[in-house]
Amino acid sequence: MNQNILLVEDEAALRMTLIDRLRSEDYIVSWAGDGDDALAKAGTLPFDLILLDVMLPRRSGFEVCREIRKAGLITPILMLTARGQTADKVAGLKLGADDYLTKPFEMAELLARVEALLRRAPQRNAYQNGIIDIGSLRIDFRGTEVSRDGRAIALSAREFQLVRYLVEHRGATISRGVLLKEVWGYNAETYTRTVDVHIASLRQKLEEDAKQPALILTVQGLGYKFVG
Ligand code: CA
Repeated sequence: MNQNILLVEDEAALRMTLIDRLRSEDYIVSWAGDGDDALAKAGTLPFDLILLDVMLPRRSGFEVCREIRKAGLITPILMLTARGQTADKVAGLKLGADDYLTKPFEMAELLARVEALLRRAPQRNAYQNGIIDIGSLRIDFRGTEVSRDGRAIALSAREFQLVRYLVEHRGATISRGVLLKEVWGYNAETYTRTVDVHIASLRQKLEEDAKQPALILTVQGLGYKFVG
């Protein structure tokens, strides 16, 4: 599966060079040109990696990094820092960045860091043989079956698609809008209640205690996150 990268860089020329190079390596690249835009995109779309410049208009890369981690997103972050700013590197790592690269950098070095981070990161398709076991719960993607302690749990086709999408993006916060688009194929955000209803139903069926969900968590103001 092609991996999704969010590139946050305000210098248009460097941004274009990076986008071209990353796309030539078959990454799917989205970009943001300032800190606000970066935060909006990071919170609504599932990315495998974020390349984050420190010096940005509106909100610095540090602030973006801190907010992303505060929201519970575990997407790996590679910070791009200015030359010689050792304090920047330390600050970035303290705020939850995974690695940093000093400008100007060689493209080969950037690609190597990106690859290394993606290898270490939790894979969106980490389950083997199409079967995933979470405690006593088993989800068989190939057989489209869900069971607990060997006893089948009946899910509707939509519920199954929803749980599949959540598990494929486990650990990432997914907004209702993205779920509507990816699971239902809707483009409008007017049916977000539909998502909530289905999530509630899934919790009834999959959680040990639907009132205290341990698998499908609500991320206040952002969406849902599958953990486990
Ligand atoms: Ca910059």
